[in-house]
Amino acid sequence: MAKKWSLPPNQALRADGLRITELDAAGTPGFKGDKKQGQGLLAERTTVLSDLQERLYANGRSGDTRSVLLVLQGMDTAGKGGIVRHVIGSVDPQGVDHASFGVPTEEEKSNHFLWRIRKALPRAGQLGVFDRSHYEDVLVVRVHNLVPPEVWEPRYDEINAFERELVDQGTTLVKVAMFVSLDEQKKRLRERLDRPDKYWKFNPADIDERGYWPAYQEAYQVVLDRTSTDYAPWHVIPADHKWFARLAVTELLIDALEGLKLDWPPAQFDVEEQRRRLALA
Ligand code: ADP
Repeated sequence: MAKKWSLPPNQALRADGLRITELDAAGTPGFKGDKKQGQGLLAERTTVLSDLQERLYANGRSGDTRSVLLVLQGMDTAGKGGIVRHVIGSVDPQGVDHASFGVPTEEEKSNHFLWRIRKALPRAGQLGVFDRSHYEDVLVVRVHNLVPPEVWEPRYDEINAFERELVDQGTTLVKVAMFVSLDEQKKRLRERLDRPDKYWKFNPADIDERGYWPAYQEAYQVVLDRTSTDYAPWHVIPADHKWFARLAVTELLIDALEGLKLDWPPAQFDVEEQRRRLALA
């Protein structure tokens, strides 16, 4: 366990039994340090993450079929993009399979909701990242009644079965739900309006979505209650402090990668012989 954590992050952030309405989005569960200490630790841990990801990639190139998939969920401004840029951005991009899921296209709509998800799964040895995911099909879809309840209701069980299948095939899932407070969200949206370099991130519909906050909280609660399994547990990240969210996700990824017990793949050639050949070349 890294220093400054009083509990391992995968325990401190575990969703089990958590009530979202009681969550302190400015909290730093399990972490005893302040921002400066958090940022210092993040710099150290980023190096560890990058080394582990390289091992995963190296093993993938040598026939290991395992992969890791980070599933990022959160309301607008929760900081999913920051995780992709700063946490995932710290590892070798060729080892990352990134996918984001917006409003489904006509083709996607005409298929099963997991169709587009299956197509985007990480390849062997890759660190996959889903910026939004199959969970939108029981979040935005449920909140806005985009399909009737008899369609979205069975999806929780389908998602559990799907994730079981992924885990059985060797994909470790790291599911992360990020939450900012309404005040913090307002601040971040205002910043997008105050800064021309942030206009591109602003979507007027984000303001309307604030009115659905309680409905989203409820929909997220059902997701946590029904789809946090022992093989693919949810983690809840209070995200008002960006440094904490980034540190937390880094730790969860490290934990998942360490669980794979990745050594460097052995040489597929005689090292001494190749040394001799190189000396003469
Ligand atoms: P972001 O807002 O994350 O930067 P986009 O603008 O590309 O990304 O699209 C995200 C939007 O797509 C969100 O409003 C999200 O709720 C919506 N979305 C994602 N999946 C679905 C889905 N299955 N059905 C309807 N809307 C969806």
